[in-house]
Amino acid sequence: MLKVEHIGIAVKNLEKSNELFTKLFGKAHYKTETVEGEQVSTSFFMMGETKIELLEATGEDSAISKFIEKRGEGIHHIAYDVEDINKEVIRLKQEGFEILNETPKQGADNKLVVFLHPKSTNGVLVELCQEISG
Ligand code: ZN
Repeated sequence: MLKVEHIGIAVKNLEKSNELFTKLFGKAHYKTETVEGEQVSTSFFMMGETKIELLEATGEDSAISKFIEKRGEGIHHIAYDVEDINKEVIRLKQEGFEILNETPKQGADNKLVVFLHPKSTNGVLVELCQEISG
């Protein structure tokens, strides 16, 4: 893995949280994006090399609404930049990590993403992401 690409924070209301985090950081988010397949609306703040991704559920089946129901708002995942996501999946499987989706799926921010089950990573949901080139 190359670096922490972003930290995902589950929020109930993206609009209100955008205001809150704009006050906190002293700068506004630089983009918002809806990921239909995941039923989430997202916004991104650039913090040096790392981004903060706010996630709001857009449907009841969204992983974010389930997360907030169980645990409330808060840090949802940490995403790591990888060079070759398929190679990383093979490597991590061999190391015994539980992969939630072995076939990378389209995430926000022009990325292919794979998630690792938090029970195999000390309770932290891990996202691998690889920039889609071209
Ligand atoms: Zn993410």
